[in-house]
Amino acid sequence: MRQQIHIVGGGLAGSEAAWHTAQMGARVVLHEMRPVRATDAHKTDGLAELVCSNSFRSDDWENNAVGLLHEEMRRAGSLILRAGDAHKLPAGGALAVDRDGFSQAVTRALEQHPNIEIRREEIAWPAEEWRSVVIATGPLTAPELANAIRARTGEESLAFFDAIAPVAYRDSIDMSVAWMQSRYDKGDGADYINCPLDEAQYRAFIAALLAGEKTEFKEWESSTPYFEGCLPIEVMAARGEDTLRFGPMKPVGLTDPRTGRRPYAVVQLRQDNALGTLWNMVGFQTKLKHGEQTRIFRMIPGLENASFARLGGLHRNTFINSPRLLDECLRLKAEPRIRFAGQITGVEGYVESAAIGLLAGCFAAGELRGSIVEPPPPTTALGALLAHITRGADAKTFQPMNVNFGLFPELVPSERPRGRDRKKAMAHRALADLDGWLGHSRAAAE
Ligand SMILES: Cc1cc2nc3c(=O)[nH]c(=O)nc-3n(C[C@H](O)[C@H](O)[C@H](O)COP(=O)(O)OP(=O)(O)OC[C@H]3O[C@@H](n4cnc5c(N)ncnc54)[C@H](O)[C@@H]3O)c2cc1C
Repeated sequence: MRQQIHIVGGGLAGSEAAWHTAQMGARVVLHEMRPVRATDAHKTDGLAELVCSNSFRSDDWENNAVGLLHEEMRRAGSLILRAGDAHKLPAGGALAVDRDGFSQAVTRALEQHPNIEIRREEIAWPAEEWRSVVIATGPLTAPELANAIRARTGEESLAFFDAIAPVAYRDSIDMSVAWMQSRYDKGDGADYINCPLDEAQYRAFIAALLAGEKTEFKEWESSTPYFEGCLPIEVMAARGEDTLRFGPMKPVGLTDPRTGRRPYAVVQLRQDNALGTLWNMVGFQTKLKHGEQTRIFRMIPGLENASFARLGGLHRNTFINSPRLLDECLRLKAEPRIRFAGQITGVEGYVESAAIGLLAGCFAAGELRGSIVEPPPPTTALGALLAHITRGADAKTFQPMNVNFGLFPELVPSERPRGRDRKKAMAHRALADLDGWLGHSRAAAE
């Protein structure tokens, strides 16, 4: 009998993974627990159900990293993009879809594929005799499977909440105000970017945090007991005006070179990716609405013109520590028959999840037939996202991430235009490199 690939979870990632493995000639069994067991967010038994917004975000491949990811996935034969394009709704420059038509099209394509069998069942852990498995069970992975993953990978390896601190682009931080220094000059002495606040600035900032509009926890989110350890900054601020100044904004061990003195309070940013283009605001997880975050964080000296690759949040989300656990082909290092894909790997969003599903499917099918598929180059959106979760991000502070241009390697200095032209140049480089990778992968498969 031909070897099978078992895919657990028929969401955005699992559907895309199933499609690619089947298209590459492998036999696929797709295990989806709905409708036998429901999640707190899905409402139908359709595959690739969109649980909230119906938008795949910007479709502008030259200026937006998620638009570029769309284009790369189209070129790679994505089922999710094909169904999305076929059920597109008017939404300006965004790709918004008719959610029912979209999900039905994906379900139909997978049901009709001769290499795919769909089983409606919950998987507590993949059977030992399954030699190739992709786990794509998403942010609402059923508890038994989540516990099994944690038991096999270690207590610290699986999170049930993402406590996302905002991440700023390094080149948008004003370094004539901020400075590099580690507290008490530890490490190499200059690991952090520090933004100083005087007393009046600090008090105004606390008042803005308290007055800022917040998003509420959903009822089922607030019953999950995993977030006490990382309180939102506005909750800390509400406990007392000085709480943050003795917590994440404490100024001890730091000297502002402009004044020669310790500032009243400080906001620290820590490097977030190996490239050094993204910096996260330490301890700044928040439930403030996104517009409010941008407005309030730009009150911080040095961040007046900051642009953010990611804004803060706190959500129910099951994800593994991919930089520590997975190899560059999404295999669990400790048990390589198992791959992970989708949001559970620490990417964020429908398109990013499907993109990692696409790669997991190609890697698994390539491995099965003995023609190894290499990871796409890190200059592509697919490759940049993959490189971020498997090796670029810091395992100690790993939190989910959308695709963004901060994940891409810089252009060589002689080819580096500024502003939007820089993104365009990166996007053109990405598609040229992607075409090379696709050509190489297809030739290897023949
Ligand atoms: C409330 C909520 C709102 C969101 N809103 C947005 C949004 O507006 N925009 C956006 O881009 N992203 C949003 N997301 C994130 C979104 O869920 C992901 O981007 C995307 O759905 C992830 O794709 P996935 O395939 O990894 O997981 P999913 O699409 O969730 O698919 C996982 C599948 O695995 C199945 N499953 C789980 N456990 C098992 C098991 N043990 N055995 C068998 N099957 C199992 C589930 O039933 C599900 O079908 C939201 C998430 C949540 C929870």
